[in-house]
Amino acid sequence: MKNKDYESLLDRARERIPKDIMERSRWTMPEPDILIEGNQTILRNFSDIVDSMDRDANHVYQYLLNELGTSGTREQIRILLKGRVAPKRIKEKIVSYVKSFILCGECKAPDTRFVREDRTTQLKCQACGATRPVRL
Ligand SMILES: [Zn+2]
Repeated sequence: MKNKDYESLLDRARERIPKDIMERSRWTMPEPDILIEGNQTILRNFSDIVDSMDRDANHVYQYLLNELGTSGTREQIRILLKGRVAPKRIKEKIVSYVKSFILCGECKAPDTRFVREDRTTQLKCQACGATRPVRL
Protein backbone atom coordinates (compact mmCIF):
# COMPACT_ATOMS: atom_id res chain seq x y z
CA MET A 1 0.00 0.00 0.00
CA LYS A 2 1.32 3.40 -0.89
CA ASN A 3 1.96 5.81 1.91
CA LYS A 4 -0.63 8.26 0.64
CA ASP A 5 -3.34 5.62 0.64
CA TYR A 6 -2.45 4.70 4.16
CA GLU A 7 -2.70 8.32 5.26
CA SER A 8 -6.09 8.85 3.72
CA LEU A 9 -7.32 5.67 5.39
CA LEU A 10 -6.07 6.97 8.70
CA ASP A 11 -7.81 10.28 8.12
CA ARG A 12 -11.08 8.54 7.39
CA ALA A 13 -10.72 6.44 10.53
CA ARG A 14 -10.10 9.54 12.61
CA GLU A 15 -13.24 11.19 11.29
CA ARG A 16 -15.28 8.32 12.67
CA ILE A 17 -13.91 8.71 16.20
CA PRO A 18 -16.33 10.70 18.35
CA LYS A 19 -15.06 14.14 19.22
CA ASP A 20 -14.90 13.61 22.97
CA ILE A 21 -12.62 10.61 22.57
CA MET A 22 -10.40 12.51 20.16
CA GLU A 23 -10.06 15.23 22.77
CA ARG A 24 -8.87 12.79 25.38
CA SER A 25 -6.25 11.31 23.11
CA ARG A 26 -2.78 12.73 22.64
CA TRP A 27 -2.94 16.24 21.34
CA THR A 28 -0.75 17.39 18.51
CA MET A 29 -0.46 20.82 17.02
CA PRO A 30 0.86 21.39 13.52
CA GLU A 31 4.32 22.94 13.28
CA PRO A 32 3.95 26.64 12.38
CA ASP A 33 4.68 27.19 8.70
CA ILE A 34 6.30 30.61 8.54
CA LEU A 35 7.52 32.50 5.51
CA ILE A 36 9.24 35.88 5.46
CA GLU A 37 8.42 37.67 2.23
CA GLY A 38 9.76 41.16 1.64
CA ASN A 39 8.73 43.25 4.60
CA GLN A 40 6.08 40.95 5.95
CA THR A 41 5.95 37.65 7.73
CA ILE A 42 3.35 35.07 6.82
CA LEU A 43 2.07 32.37 9.13
CA ARG A 44 0.72 30.13 6.42
CA ASN A 45 -1.10 27.51 8.47
CA PHE A 46 -2.64 29.75 11.10
CA SER A 47 -6.10 28.20 10.73
CA ASP A 48 -4.73 24.66 11.11
CA ILE A 49 -2.99 25.69 14.31
CA VAL A 50 -6.12 27.36 15.68
CA ASP A 51 -8.27 24.37 14.73
CA SER A 52 -5.97 22.10 16.70
CA MET A 53 -6.26 24.46 19.69
CA ASP A 54 -10.05 24.63 19.60
CA ARG A 55 -9.93 28.31 20.50
CA ASP A 56 -11.37 31.45 18.97
CA ALA A 57 -9.20 32.39 15.99
CA ASN A 58 -9.52 36.09 16.67
CA HIS A 59 -8.36 35.68 20.26
CA VAL A 60 -5.24 33.83 19.12
CA TYR A 61 -4.64 36.39 16.40
CA GLN A 62 -4.95 39.41 18.72
CA TYR A 63 -2.72 37.72 21.27
CA LEU A 64 0.01 37.19 18.68
CA LEU A 65 -0.20 40.80 17.46
CA ASN A 66 0.01 42.17 21.00
CA GLU A 67 2.85 39.89 22.02
CA LEU A 68 4.85 40.48 18.86
CA GLY A 69 4.14 44.20 18.90
CA THR A 70 3.09 44.41 15.30
CA SER A 71 0.00 44.80 13.19
CA GLY A 72 -1.31 42.39 10.65
CA THR A 73 -4.03 41.07 8.42
CA ARG A 74 -6.01 37.91 8.97
CA GLU A 75 -7.03 36.03 5.86
CA GLN A 76 -8.94 32.76 5.53
CA ILE A 77 -6.22 30.34 6.49
CA ARG A 78 -3.15 32.50 7.07
CA ILE A 79 -2.10 35.68 8.80
CA LEU A 80 0.20 38.36 7.49
CA LEU A 81 2.34 40.23 10.00
CA LYS A 82 3.93 43.58 9.29
CA GLY A 83 7.70 43.51 9.31
CA ARG A 84 10.17 40.68 9.46
CA VAL A 85 9.44 38.62 12.53
CA ALA A 86 11.82 35.82 13.44
CA PRO A 87 10.01 32.46 13.13
CA LYS A 88 11.46 31.47 16.50
CA ARG A 89 9.64 34.38 18.18
CA ILE A 90 6.33 33.42 16.59
CA LYS A 91 6.74 29.83 17.75
CA GLU A 92 7.57 31.00 21.26
CA LYS A 93 4.40 33.13 21.36
CA ILE A 94 2.27 30.24 20.16
CA VAL A 95 3.73 28.07 22.90
CA SER A 96 3.08 30.76 25.49
CA TYR A 97 -0.53 31.04 24.26
CA VAL A 98 -0.90 27.30 24.77
CA LYS A 99 0.55 27.53 28.28
CA SER A 100 -1.61 30.52 29.23
CA PHE A 101 -4.92 29.61 27.65
CA ILE A 102 -5.04 25.89 26.95
CA LEU A 103 -3.05 23.65 29.27
CA CYS A 104 -4.54 22.69 32.63
CA GLY A 105 -2.52 24.12 35.54
CA GLU A 106 -2.79 20.86 37.46
CA CYS A 107 -2.53 17.91 35.11
CA LYS A 108 -1.31 19.75 31.95
CA ALA A 109 -4.05 18.20 29.84
CA PRO A 110 -5.08 20.28 26.83
CA ASP A 111 -8.76 19.36 27.18
CA THR A 112 -9.89 22.63 28.70
CA ARG A 113 -12.72 25.10 28.24
CA PHE A 114 -13.30 28.70 29.16
CA VAL A 115 -16.04 28.99 31.76
CA ARG A 116 -17.49 32.34 32.82
CA GLU A 117 -17.92 32.76 36.55
CA ASP A 118 -19.27 36.09 37.79
CA ARG A 119 -16.91 38.58 36.21
CA THR A 120 -13.95 36.31 35.73
CA THR A 121 -13.18 33.66 33.20
CA GLN A 122 -11.90 30.33 34.40
CA LEU A 123 -10.05 27.74 32.44
CA LYS A 124 -11.74 24.48 33.35
CA CYS A 125 -10.04 21.15 32.73
CA GLN A 126 -12.23 18.42 31.28
CA ALA A 127 -9.79 15.73 32.39
CA CYS A 128 -9.30 16.47 36.10
CA GLY A 129 -11.88 19.20 36.77
CA ALA A 130 -9.36 21.78 38.02
CA THR A 131 -9.99 25.44 37.26
CA ARG A 132 -7.73 28.44 37.16
CA PRO A 133 -8.49 32.05 36.32
CA VAL A 134 -7.42 33.38 32.94
CA ARG A 135 -7.36 36.96 31.73
CA LEU A 136 -8.74 37.16 28.23
ZN1 LIG B 1 -6.44 18.93 34.57
